[in-house]
Amino acid sequence: MASALGTRGPDTEGRWMKFNSARPFAATKLGRCPINCRNSVLMFKLKVFFKDAIGGSRMRMNALVWTVAIACMTPMMAQPASAANVKVTPLGGQDGEFCRQDRALIFEDPNGTRILYDAGRTVAGADDPRLGKIDIILVSHMHGDHLGDSHNKAPNSGSCDKPDVSVSALPNSNSVDIALAKKAKIVTGSEMPPFFAAKLKANGGDPKDSILARFGGSVKLGGVTIATVPAFHSNGLDPDYIGGELGRQMKEAGIAGYVGEATGYVLKFSNGLVVYLSGDTGITAEQDKVVHGYYKAKLAVMNMGDGFSTGPNEAAYVINDLVKPNSVIPSHANEVGTVGGKVRPGSKTETFVKAVKVPVHIPLSGKTMEFNGNGKCVAGC
Ligand SMILES: [Zn+2]
Repeated sequence: MASALGTRGPDTEGRWMKFNSARPFAATKLGRCPINCRNSVLMFKLKVFFKDAIGGSRMRMNALVWTVAIACMTPMMAQPASAANVKVTPLGGQDGEFCRQDRALIFEDPNGTRILYDAGRTVAGADDPRLGKIDIILVSHMHGDHLGDSHNKAPNSGSCDKPDVSVSALPNSNSVDIALAKKAKIVTGSEMPPFFAAKLKANGGDPKDSILARFGGSVKLGGVTIATVPAFHSNGLDPDYIGGELGRQMKEAGIAGYVGEATGYVLKFSNGLVVYLSGDTGITAEQDKVVHGYYKAKLAVMNMGDGFSTGPNEAAYVINDLVKPNSVIPSHANEVGTVGGKVRPGSKTETFVKAVKVPVHIPLSGKTMEFNGNGKCVAGC
């Protein structure tokens, strides 16, 4: 009998309500219902009213309640790809593969804001047709494989193991060239913003498009909140970006320019998704205390190539015990990670996949993945 426990149905505001059959309009908020069932809801409430008014069959009323409830719940349970998801598209060296130099990812907020993370060498310059509109560029640190000292001749040039990155981007860098062409803002932490401001200005851009987000603070651009977090690495600026007599003397002395600490990022998108981008780093206490404890990241992009950053087992520890996201995308493998789109047996990528306890989504170049606000991949994985 529904009269003892009440019956669930949606109200005209689209909320799920618990109806008391004796008082059909006295209800408790339970959640939201899709907009497209609101007309059905109105019909439902009118029928309940008339049935009660004329003392109609309670069994028939219950059948109607369940019909409306199931009609409303079906689209909610299906979790289709929708405008409320964040789209992640890798721009790697070879279509459909995870390759040696791959770092670049595009994040697209549900509101259309597009963010390029660590363009590196696999984005084939500012004219790469895969880029499209870019609003914001992130650079975790100044090493050439992230900032982009050179780049692919074109998408898919060379091989997965040996990409053809023979086009020099010095002294500007791939990241700066793309920012200038797209009129994008560059958001960095540490002491990096003045370098980017100077490069933009020297090439006819607006130095104000280089924006600081230093540890502990954040900036909000295009509906996305961007914070930087510590990465334990190094961050010397190669004298080739400086050039001139100063650059020549620094190169001769074997020293790099000081631009502060390397960074990672935490992004919060408009659907609530919080993403951790590790950058190149070792294991840090902040991955627990800051990235997990404070920001509560639900999706992580974790560098796991060993030698230059955490290896696959260290990176798996970071994910399992420190950041604890709901899913992870490996990055910076420095190897052929996949063959034919499948993880290569014996690879570091395979070691990482096996050691991690949450779903691992391999960044196959050109394949867009969609994540909901809780960090679950709901399409393209
Ligand atoms: Zn590095």
